[in-house]
Amino acid sequence: MRTIDHWINGSLVPSRSGQSSPVYNPALGIQQAAVGLASIDEVDIAVAAAKTAFRAWRATSLSKRAEVMFRFRELVVSRRDEIAELLSLEHGKVPSDAAGELARGIENIEFACGIPAMLKGGYSEGVSSGVDVYSIKQPLGVVAGITPFNFPAMVPMWMFTNAIATGNTFVLKPSEKDPSVSLLLAELLKMAGLPDGVFNVVQGDRVAVDRILEHPDIAAVSFVGSTPIAQYIYATGTANGKRVQALGGAKNHMVVLPDADINMAADAAVSAAYGSAGERCMAISVVVAVGGVGDTLIDAISERLPKLKVGPGTDPSSEMGPLITGEHRDKVASYLEGAAGEGATVVVDGREADLPEHGFFLGVSLLDNVAPGMSSYEDEIFGPVLSVVRVETYDEAVDLINRHQYGNGTAIFTRDGGAAHAFQYDINVGMVGINVPIPVPVAYYSFGGWKASIFGDSNIYGPAGVEFYTRTKTVTSRWPDPATSSVDLGFPRTR
Ligand code: NAD
Repeated sequence: MRTIDHWINGSLVPSRSGQSSPVYNPALGIQQAAVGLASIDEVDIAVAAAKTAFRAWRATSLSKRAEVMFRFRELVVSRRDEIAELLSLEHGKVPSDAAGELARGIENIEFACGIPAMLKGGYSEGVSSGVDVYSIKQPLGVVAGITPFNFPAMVPMWMFTNAIATGNTFVLKPSEKDPSVSLLLAELLKMAGLPDGVFNVVQGDRVAVDRILEHPDIAAVSFVGSTPIAQYIYATGTANGKRVQALGGAKNHMVVLPDADINMAADAAVSAAYGSAGERCMAISVVVAVGGVGDTLIDAISERLPKLKVGPGTDPSSEMGPLITGEHRDKVASYLEGAAGEGATVVVDGREADLPEHGFFLGVSLLDNVAPGMSSYEDEIFGPVLSVVRVETYDEAVDLINRHQYGNGTAIFTRDGGAAHAFQYDINVGMVGINVPIPVPVAYYSFGGWKASIFGDSNIYGPAGVEFYTRTKTVTSRWPDPATSSVDLGFPRTR
């Protein structure tokens, strides 16, 4: 069985813990490798490498750091197909999902290429006689990232691009479900000229995470994953004095007003609900049909579903791949089992779909008459299940969304500019789409939800990333006031 290693101090390092976790090929439903799970000692070795590398990396000029990022970007672009193949092999992504993930990741590298412009501080001359005050942004030291399975290339790139560009050194703990792409990124960073020890990967599970959270030499932790773990990471990391940003789960609602373009809304609902098999934190999982739009909308969505091709990522025509594990597939399917008993109508049942024989596949599902209180409404299902909730008015739709525990993303479909404008004002959700179903902000904005979708006050990537990975030092300096002093400069002041 192939084993998947750590990457420490510029090289692959096999795990010595004796503990491992299976890595599946989700499209075939078989184990294809075992990933070593780091012991406390192995985390410590990676952190020590990052700590040693920090001194020189911090002193590396901004233009040299940017040059590394430019070269890294070129390497990622030129090896795009290979990275996409790896995403498909371990995560099960179909080609369009893998390409989309990489494109969004590359945007973050491009943002980090501009780091010299973003690390400018402020300067106030003459706050009193001869006194100037200015601020500089300095790196934190060793920072860590803990990432989920669903975007094994993009989410690490949300973190390490800015962390490294701002002068920190980095320890990544990727998801143990699809760990290999992190090693390929490590290799490309090295090829781009990143010094050894600046970027390290420790494969692992809770043991590694807990060591990261308590390690005295780690200054900050970025986390993306489910809400219960995000809450745990935030509470534990901050209790240990670390700066923590922790992004959690989601249940994203898409409101369709009666005046919406129904074909546009149905296309959007289908791609946003079932893309990446619904395993996206920005997936639409609830459509809120306002007024009389429900029947027409459900018909429009239903007629599109049989055309959606479910298959392995190795087939270029596949539009939706498998779920990450058999266990997760069964958990998602259990919501279909329980839906009718809770009072929902199962319009399309993914368990009855004609699916590839092997692999962790589940067909697309559509539930109607879903309501608050039902588990299919309250929980993050994280699979290809779209629920429809029917309400009478715009206010009911807003109230429904604002009462939900999650507040990651939402969307409204309407032709009415006034309604759209009111929605962006009224809604308690961090990322809003207006006739856009998956409103993931571009890399020069920052990403983050509200409510139980985030812990801490820092969004991730973009300007928020630069802030998170730096701390401000403010300097107050006094020199003889050049306007009034007759200080002896040691050489003639004028000719
Ligand atoms: P997860 O929370 O199970 O795992 C995330 C990371 O935490 C992994 O590295 C995992 O090894 C680690 N982990 C898991 N259990 C742990 C424990 N008990 N103690 C310590 N560490 C633990 O999430 P996942 O299933 O990999 O990813 C899917 C989740 O991530 C969904 O909830 C999704 O909404 C969320 N997500 C959120 C965003 C966002 O930006 N808000 C983006 C992507 C994914």
